[in-house]
Amino acid sequence: MSQDWDAGRLDSDLEGVAFDTLAVRAGQHRTPEAEHGDPMFFTSSYVFRTAADAAARFAGEVPGNVYSRYTNPTVRAFEERIAALEGAEQAVATATGMAAIMAVVMSLCSAGDHVLVSRSVFGSTISLFEKYFKRFGVEVDYVPLADLSAWDAAIKANTKLLFVESPSNPLAELVDIAALAEIAHAKGAMLVVDNCFCTPALQQPLKLGADVVVHSATKFIDGQGRCMGGVVAGRGEQMKEVVGFLRTAGPTLSPFNAWIFLKGLETLGLRMKAHCANAQALAEWLEQQDGIEKVHYAGLKSHPQHDLALRQQRGFGAVVSFEVKGGKEGAWRFIDATRLISITANLGDSKTTITHPSTTSHGRLSPQERESAGIRDSLIRVAVGLEDVADLQVDLARGLAAL
Ligand SMILES: *Cc1c(COP(=O)(O)O)cnc(C)c1O
Repeated sequence: MSQDWDAGRLDSDLEGVAFDTLAVRAGQHRTPEAEHGDPMFFTSSYVFRTAADAAARFAGEVPGNVYSRYTNPTVRAFEERIAALEGAEQAVATATGMAAIMAVVMSLCSAGDHVLVSRSVFGSTISLFEKYFKRFGVEVDYVPLADLSAWDAAIKANTKLLFVESPSNPLAELVDIAALAEIAHAKGAMLVVDNCFCTPALQQPLKLGADVVVHSATKFIDGQGRCMGGVVAGRGEQMKEVVGFLRTAGPTLSPFNAWIFLKGLETLGLRMKAHCANAQALAEWLEQQDGIEKVHYAGLKSHPQHDLALRQQRGFGAVVSFEVKGGKEGAWRFIDATRLISITANLGDSKTTITHPSTTSHGRLSPQERESAGIRDSLIRVAVGLEDVADLQVDLARGLAAL
C-alpha cells in the first residue's frame, strides 16, 4: 500500500456495524488498483524507494512491510478481521493452531513460571505442555474445567497463565469464563481461552474478561477442511510479546492460507447458525432413541450447564457426543454402519464427521486417565456439518439399527 495514495471512500466505513458485517468487510485495505476482491500478496520481501526509506522502515519509524515473516498485507487483513470479530486490540496469525498456543506460552512465560491447564484440552496441547514446556522449566498442573474453587485453590504465587477450552471436547463441559477471569486476575494471573469450538460468532472470551484468545483456524474459521492456520488475539501489551516471538521464531501464516480464511470468515455467522441448528436437531432426536444412554450437548435442557451456555454463548456449537449401548463394540458397529458421514477425527468442516474418542483422539491416555476425563468406550463424537439434517438423521439411524 503506497504511502502517498489515499484509499478514501474506497475503504468501507465500519463504525458501529454488526458482527456479520465485520466478518465480510473488516481488514480490507485497497491498493491503488481499487480491487473489490481480496488480493493475495505472494512476496517474501518488499522494495524501498531509497536507502533512507529502507532504514526508516527497518527502524519502525515509518509503517510498511519489510519481510513476510514480519508482516504481509493478506495476512494482515486476516489478523485485523479476527481482531474486529473477537473485540481484541490486536491479533496475529500463525501457521497452525498449535503454533498459536506455543507462541502464547513462549512469549508470556519464563522458566520457573507455573501454568494451570484445564484437564480436558486438545491432545497435542497436553503433549506440548508435558513434553516440551516442562523441559524448559515451566511448571504445569491440571484442573477440572468447571470447578471454580479448584482453580482458585490451584493458583500459586508463580502462576502466570490459566489455559482453558470451553466448551470442552468431546463432552461439552463449560467453565464460567467471566468468573474464572476474576479468579485469575485477583491473583495476578492471565486467562487464555482456546475459542476454537465456538469461534467469535458464538463466544467472545475477551469481552467476558479473558486476556488472550487462541484459535485453530483450521477448524470452523476455514470451515471447509482446506488448510491449516491459527491466530492469537488480545490486548496490545501481551500481543507485543506474542508478535515479537512469532516474527523471530517464524511459525507465521502463509498469505494463501490467510486468503482462504478471509473467504471462510465471510460466511462464518451463517455457517455457525446452520451448524448449531443441525446439531440441536440431532441431539434432541438422539436423546429420544432407545440405543442411546446419554447425549452430551449444551443445547439440551438435560445438560448440567445449559443455563451457563445460554448466558455465555450465542449458540451451542456443532459437536454432539453420545454414549451407546454395547460399549466399544456397540460404538464401533454404530460408526461402521454409517454411509454418509465421514469417519475422521477432524471437525469444523461442512462435512459431518464421526469418531470414537477412546480409541482415536484420546487413545494415548491410560484407562484411568480416560475414566477421570469421562471418555467411556461407549462414547461417540459427531461434529455436525452442513448437510441436510434429515439425511444425517437417516445415517445415524443406520448406526442405531446396528447396535
Ligand atoms: C485442532 C485444535 C487445535 C490445534 O490446531 P491445529 O490447527 O491442528 O494445530 C487446538 N485446539 C483445539 C481445541 C483444536 O480442536
